[in-house]
Amino acid sequence: MWRFLKIVPLCWLIAGAAVPTTAPADPAVEQNSFAKTLAGISGSRMLEDVARLSGPDFNGRQTGTSDDLRSALLVAERFRALGLSAPLDKASDSALRSWMMREPVTAGRIEAQPSLQLLANPDSTTARLGADYLPVLDSPSVNVTAPIVFVGYGIADPARGFDDYAGLDVRNRVVLFLRGKPAQYAAPITQADKERAAREKGAAAFLTATGPILSAYEVRRGISGAPSALYNQPDGERPLAGAWISTELAKKILAAEEHSLLEVQEQLNRAAPRSFSTGVLAKLTWNSIQEPGTLHNVVGMIPGRDSGDADILVIGAHRDHFGRQAGLLFPGADDNASGTAVLLEVARALTASGLTPKRTILFISFSGEEQGLLGSRLYLRHPLLPLARTTAMINVDHAGIGNGTLTVGVTGLPKEAAVEAARHAGLADGIEVFGFFPGGDHVPFKEAGIATVTVVSAGIHPHFHQPTDTADTIKPDILERAARYTTALIWQLANAP
Ligand SMILES: [Zn+2]
Repeated sequence: MWRFLKIVPLCWLIAGAAVPTTAPADPAVEQNSFAKTLAGISGSRMLEDVARLSGPDFNGRQTGTSDDLRSALLVAERFRALGLSAPLDKASDSALRSWMMREPVTAGRIEAQPSLQLLANPDSTTARLGADYLPVLDSPSVNVTAPIVFVGYGIADPARGFDDYAGLDVRNRVVLFLRGKPAQYAAPITQADKERAAREKGAAAFLTATGPILSAYEVRRGISGAPSALYNQPDGERPLAGAWISTELAKKILAAEEHSLLEVQEQLNRAAPRSFSTGVLAKLTWNSIQEPGTLHNVVGMIPGRDSGDADILVIGAHRDHFGRQAGLLFPGADDNASGTAVLLEVARALTASGLTPKRTILFISFSGEEQGLLGSRLYLRHPLLPLARTTAMINVDHAGIGNGTLTVGVTGLPKEAAVEAARHAGLADGIEVFGFFPGGDHVPFKEAGIATVTVVSAGIHPHFHQPTDTADTIKPDILERAARYTTALIWQLANAP
């Protein structure tokens, strides 16, 4: 073991760890090889992978499409070339498919040339696709013209004293609500909850917008007022058609009858309900196509020294993005070609090191993340190795832009473990450690009681879920730091006593 492993605090000794069946190599030799392994990590090689995955070959890698399969084949081919093992039954239909876990899904697409018009006597505005609005990606087809009613944060929860729909009839109206919630509303609320409330109240469609007052988290991540790609993710029901509109467009709608969106949001944030008719009509028109498809996770493995009894460490990154929607390409360079490139580079570095870890390392390239963590939930339902022996899951997502530091979210492990890996990677001043990071493929693992570490580049991500998330915005030095850190962390966790 290396020096840094000897000072691992007792509190994160992992319960049930098996005794090695093979003696580790000479510690000095191992330490030297590992230093070389870290030094060999290349940001420019990862940038090439990001450019390839977010380029025209893969069309935005939408879950369930042929682009999902082709990007999965690329990752499987790389895993095989690196010498990882295929943990699945090799008797399946073709060699590369034995690296894949598959599941039927619906691949939905908004067809090109949707339209959103706003009619306020005597003016009419044609909203600009992308800049002013984006249809919600699992919206059904729609052709509706109806008055817009503003309904605050869109919360219908009278039992907790919050009902933005109180005293309103929104049947056959288009409701407009803000994203997020007032601080006083303690319960969690999702987009799916708000969509369901609007549907149950009989609305014809919805619009949603980010308010001008951002939460601390939104400020930290550089969330702008621009519309982003989004799924409603309703449970089985046919969702209401909806669009995310820009903060500027929402301001304009409220200004038609001299409401200030800023003042209204200030009142809402003091838990004072504000709902009213805006005097503006919305005309929404688009076609949506829902097609059956297949989701593909790709899984490769470095078997641990403890062979059959080894504990397991999972490193994952989602590969899927939104594909082509409403005629716009969502390349998903930062989200998450960057994490996929890091996953491949970590696999390359660890296999090139020639070192055998104590624990088995399982590499998973997930699909279905953007549609609601479908690929990671699939793995948790059908784990390839026992979950009871899976000691931690490391998730890399959005690792290509930002301010150069890494945000590391830790659950189920002492934060010191995350800090120690940074010291070993030469990045002691380069990380900020937090607790649970909201959202991502680590969430189902955390729910299953497995420790998780989420690695994300810190600072603003201004192209988040937008067509501008392209490879030319990606910084190879940030990819390099993410890969160095992740390699050090995984090696540390894979060899902890
Ligand atoms: Zn995303």
